[in-house]
Amino acid sequence: MPAMTTTARLYATVILPLAVPKTYSYLVPEELEAYMQFGIRVEVPLRNKLYAAIVVDLERGLKLDYKTRDISAVIDEVPLISQQQYAFWSWIAEYYCCTIGEVMGVALPGGLKLGSETKVVISPDYDGDVTDLNDQEFLIAEALANRQELTIDEIQDITDRKTVYPYIRTLLDKQAIYIKEELKQKYKPKTADYLILHPDYAGGADRLSKALELSTKSDHQTNSILAFAQLRNGKDQLPKLDVMHKATVTGSVIKALEKKGIWTIEKKVVSRLDQDYDGTADHQPMSDQQVTAHQLIANESGGKPVLLHGVTGSGKTRVYVELIKEAIAEGKQVLFLVPEIALTTQIVSRVQAALGKKVQVYHSRMSNNERVELWNATYEGLPVVLGARSSLFLPYQNLGLIIVDEEHDRSYKQQDPAPRYNARDAAAYLAHLTGAQIVLGSATPSLESYMNARASKYHYASMRERFGVANLPKIHIVDLRRAYKSNAMKGMVSLELYRAMEAALDRKEQVLLFQNRRGYSTSIQCTVCGWVADCPNCDLTLTLHQYFDELKCHSCGHRAKNPKNCPACGNDQINKIGFGTEKIEDHVAELFPEAVVRRMDYDTVRTKNQFQDLLHDFEQRKVDILVGTQMITKGLDFANVSIVGVLQADRILHFPDFRSGERGFQLLTQVAGRAGRAAVEGHVYIQTFQPDHPVLQETIANSYVDFAVRESSERQAYTYPPFFRLIHIQLRHKKQHIAQEAAQIMAQQLTARLGNRVLGPAEPSVARLRTYYLQNIMIKMEKDPEQIHYVKRLLLAAKSNLTNTKGYKSVRIVIDVDPY
Ligand code: ADP
Ligand code: ZN
Ligand code: ZN
Repeated sequence: MPAMTTTARLYATVILPLAVPKTYSYLVPEELEAYMQFGIRVEVPLRNKLYAAIVVDLERGLKLDYKTRDISAVIDEVPLISQQQYAFWSWIAEYYCCTIGEVMGVALPGGLKLGSETKVVISPDYDGDVTDLNDQEFLIAEALANRQELTIDEIQDITDRKTVYPYIRTLLDKQAIYIKEELKQKYKPKTADYLILHPDYAGGADRLSKALELSTKSDHQTNSILAFAQLRNGKDQLPKLDVMHKATVTGSVIKALEKKGIWTIEKKVVSRLDQDYDGTADHQPMSDQQVTAHQLIANESGGKPVLLHGVTGSGKTRVYVELIKEAIAEGKQVLFLVPEIALTTQIVSRVQAALGKKVQVYHSRMSNNERVELWNATYEGLPVVLGARSSLFLPYQNLGLIIVDEEHDRSYKQQDPAPRYNARDAAAYLAHLTGAQIVLGSATPSLESYMNARASKYHYASMRERFGVANLPKIHIVDLRRAYKSNAMKGMVSLELYRAMEAALDRKEQVLLFQNRRGYSTSIQCTVCGWVADCPNCDLTLTLHQYFDELKCHSCGHRAKNPKNCPACGNDQINKIGFGTEKIEDHVAELFPEAVVRRMDYDTVRTKNQFQDLLHDFEQRKVDILVGTQMITKGLDFANVSIVGVLQADRILHFPDFRSGERGFQLLTQVAGRAGRAAVEGHVYIQTFQPDHPVLQETIANSYVDFAVRESSERQAYTYPPFFRLIHIQLRHKKQHIAQEAAQIMAQQLTARLGNRVLGPAEPSVARLRTYYLQNIMIKMEKDPEQIHYVKRLLLAAKSNLTNTKGYKSVRIVIDVDPY
């Protein structure tokens, strides 16, 4: 601010935690001027409610065309967010066509996001000592003591105060109250006793044997040390109970050994993530290809993003860990993004084993308090955050490295609500903003990233072989047409797969069976010749709508009659494809009555603990055959799996989306990658009606490059990403005709400016969702930044036009930039 004397009043521009399209400005009362600074929260009135808003601009003598109101109070003494975070939020809002209030909604943990509807409760630990509280705080605490919970709005009424937020904040700080969490599991930290080897005996096996000399007089003690040695599997710490059980000794024996200085007993908080599942760090030296990849990233990237393309089992994790350690040594912070924290527990525990307390996990199931704690820890310089997409928003002070593991994964994209951002792409922007190095890792990179590498926008590091003795599995294609004709099927399992399973089970090896049943769409297919209904206008399959008995394209709206006979061969048996994991589980249990068969999908595994338990049972070889959906494809690393069966690849290859080929290749390669990860040889059986499908051929050959070359030429021909950009617009209304009319109006408006770049409106296959009727419009455009910018503005204008038009005010318009 200029130091000149001026009488002009100070105005603060703030972000409100609402989906309002613009920022609002307020007058700063003179007595509050001294406290104003960027990034603090202030209490402001809006439409008879009070909000906690963040100050993002301060200016004197601001000219505004509306009458400003006063800021009513200051909430924070120190800024909650930095200029850099604000720049990041602004980029997301602009790029993904949403409001900055919506970005604030995902960026701030619940405990920092105070709104008039926020419910607070008195803390059960609060002993009611009121001497700590000032009058206003006391009033609020008293009101809360009488009532179970109150919204901030209600508190305002009860206490009859103009201002409440600053006191809510200080009460939170004093832990006298907390924010009520609805529908969230209460977090209970779980602890367990661990035995931690004294440094003299830690490390190599020979060192622990020295400890035996100290226990010669007691068999129990000797047995305990031997039990540790047998269980340790490279680790220097183990759960106390495991060792006691193995050695069949009591706690006093373990204690005696602690006295002798062989180990210490420590209570460890086992997070929900790694309970029962302590990983081992990858302890051997890096392989040559790991060294080469690491060097390229560490020394030659020159700050450019790096795509680390390493086949399944090549050892990407170890390379990440090496880079992380170096970044920490330079005093930098690291963000390690994984697609779904609940499904990537193995990688989480391996990283934790390597980095210990330096790494903390951040995810949406944590309690508000914990999320706030991690927010603060990050602000104070926590070295490594491992988390899902929302960890992009933590207040890093000195970010040096961002790793995006499984960068192709769809769950990086937030689908609902806004901001509909892709965490991989946002991470690239954050890296650019902070000067951090970014590494995108995958065995099956997205075509976007691969093309960026080809165009030298990214550096490219590759690892083509599996680590150690493991080899990539051998992939066999099972031709279902032939198998059905020659009666070589046992239900949905081909004889070929059946025999392979039988042999593997005899050798006490394990089997994974995969069936993709997610999604509602079904394609139709001839049981004899394999004909599939495709759209004439798009490179997509048509979806059967049984009610109307017709086929539809979800991209361009094309319709066709549902044929009674196969147009290719005349056969009248056209099937809707569909059997799911549950039917497979039953059937396989009948086929192999001796085997233990379990199922892993969202029906059987709802919580992280169930997931954890099932993984644990599988790792302990208590399960012989595991049937599952995508859940079993994500990074699982089990040494004893020799057979992977994909029961029907066709479902994967014919999803009505231009990415179906890419997803198919990724999914099949990833699921195949679960086999043969250690000494046992892996075999993968892919059952299909279309053995000649190019994606299958590319999968067998393990040829990502063939896939990428073919797929990219198709994308180019059909003007799809990564060569063109897409923006998807969905209109939703409870009345069908209003949704339809609104979509027509919007499409016409857009078409007038953008011509045939606008596709639709078309009704999606699920035309009514949560009582709303849906209409889709797609914009396909060239990758010209100026034009994209223009289109986005046009789109926002069209949106606000429509919602300001009588009759359509209540239409919900959802804009999805770069749908994924
Ligand atoms: P990717 O993520 O590339 O599929 P992983 O990182 O899971 O591969 O590594 C595959 C296997 O090889 C894992 O079991 C891992 O523990 C092991 N591994 C990789 N690198 C090393 C290493 N340097 N020392 C010991 N084990 C390693
Ligand atoms: Zn046919
Ligand atoms: Zn079409």
